[in-house]
Amino acid sequence: MPISRAGSDFDIILVSAEFWDDHPLSPVGMIARVLDAKGFSVGIIEKPVEDEDFTRVGAPRLFFGVTSGSIDSMLNNYTPLKRPRSQDAHADWNPMPDRALIVYCNALRRLFKGCKIVIGGIEASLRRFAHYDYWDNAVRRSVLFDTRADILVYGNGEKQVIEIAERARGGKSLDCIQGTCVISDELPAGFESLPPFEAVKKDKARFCEMQLAFSNSKDIAQESNGRYLLQHAYPEYTTADLDWLYSLPFSRRLHPESQLGMAQFSVVTHRGCIGECSFCSLALHQGSRIISRSEDGIIHEIERLTKHPQFKGYIDDLGGPSANMYGMDCGERCANPCLECGKLDRSHSRLIALMRRARTVKGVKKVFVRSGVRYDLALESKDYIEELSRFHISGCLKVAPEHFSAKVLGLMNKDGRRFGEFVQVFGKLNEGMGQSLRHYLMLGHPGEDEGTLSALLRKAERIGNIEQFQLFTPTPMTLSTCMYWTGVDPRTMRKVNIIYDYKTKKMMKAALMRAVGKRGRTSPDSITLK
Ligand code: SF4
Repeated sequence: MPISRAGSDFDIILVSAEFWDDHPLSPVGMIARVLDAKGFSVGIIEKPVEDEDFTRVGAPRLFFGVTSGSIDSMLNNYTPLKRPRSQDAHADWNPMPDRALIVYCNALRRLFKGCKIVIGGIEASLRRFAHYDYWDNAVRRSVLFDTRADILVYGNGEKQVIEIAERARGGKSLDCIQGTCVISDELPAGFESLPPFEAVKKDKARFCEMQLAFSNSKDIAQESNGRYLLQHAYPEYTTADLDWLYSLPFSRRLHPESQLGMAQFSVVTHRGCIGECSFCSLALHQGSRIISRSEDGIIHEIERLTKHPQFKGYIDDLGGPSANMYGMDCGERCANPCLECGKLDRSHSRLIALMRRARTVKGVKKVFVRSGVRYDLALESKDYIEELSRFHISGCLKVAPEHFSAKVLGLMNKDGRRFGEFVQVFGKLNEGMGQSLRHYLMLGHPGEDEGTLSALLRKAERIGNIEQFQLFTPTPMTLSTCMYWTGVDPRTMRKVNIIYDYKTKKMMKAALMRAVGKRGRTSPDSITLK
């Protein structure tokens, strides 16, 4: 039986806070295809509200898989100033309940006594340990305790879900599955212990200790109220694994209200990111090492897309978390920061070869690169910037300097010293082509103060072309969130200036709007933050 929203008698039923798109960029879409490929029948429940929404397709033979999808429900539902997005008429808001995982699991526990529940997706992944919750302004325990689910899958979960399904079908235990977390009454040998929940909840130094001990590559335990949250180290995903996943027969049929409209014909080239930006949790979700697909695997996917009835000749994006890290895989598995390592292949040669081959596929008119480009890495290859400018963008290239204060950038773990150089190189290579850079900026990150903000506003006014600016929002498990909650940089335990006051945040936002909105009108030289 194929994957379906209707019918009954399924092996597995996936409950998602997002619509199901039969597309590799849809978390529920990917998991459904993987299970289907392994011979499991899969039922889909999207955005359930009433009891009958949960019971419509009956009980699964093996388990319910529950996810909020590609975003944490609280981040989805509230603005950085904690205003409900539902009240914002302009917001492209995708309705889901607050704390969707907990709401859905509680309903399933009530309606299907004794059923097995597996939770996964971003919300589960980044709330797997004790974490600071911006919306409660408090430290919460692992979401696995709150959902009372049987097992939590973190990171991309395809391998883990197959293992769980095959064990469940065989009536075997779900213990010790790599890339999952379970709750145990005992602390097994060989697990590294984080400070207990009760300690990190009230002691900010212990919270910092926990933050620095997070890792995907270890068996880690955290005690909470006398029981243990056990994380099993993440499994290795290989090029062959990714080629198989993206070769699955996705129809790329999108739900009428899908959020993937602009990405229907996007192609993923790799997973992971070596950037390690402090405000980003990707390293603790997808991993801090690059896993690239094979060039052949990607080209075969593009060839298949050219036969899609809705394909008009345009590949919407060829990329990953960062567009230009494809091919920067490294066989070594060390804990050092790749961006500072001499062994990292920065040539972009595999990426350039892929881009050249992709645009010659029969039926392809243009291959766009819309994922953000890591500009300091791109500077290592002028050929790459030239290829990108000449063939893969139209009118603008999006880059994320985020800020221009060395102090704030240092806390963000970003190096802004080469931004000016990148602007020059890009400008030179695009002379007469009418193409420009568009910038992503972040306001209010830990370390922000009057001086850094004024500098940011002046620079923003000077460079213009702001694609997007965001007010910093502390999301679970990031280093910046630890700074926000504790007021110190856990790497040095030095005090960091934090802006907590909403009035000030609102004022900052308004000031930047003015600075970028009305170019040519000088913004105030200095800003006073009450
Ligand atoms: S050897 Fe260098 S490039 Fe390779 S994983 Fe380690 S830090 Fe990264």
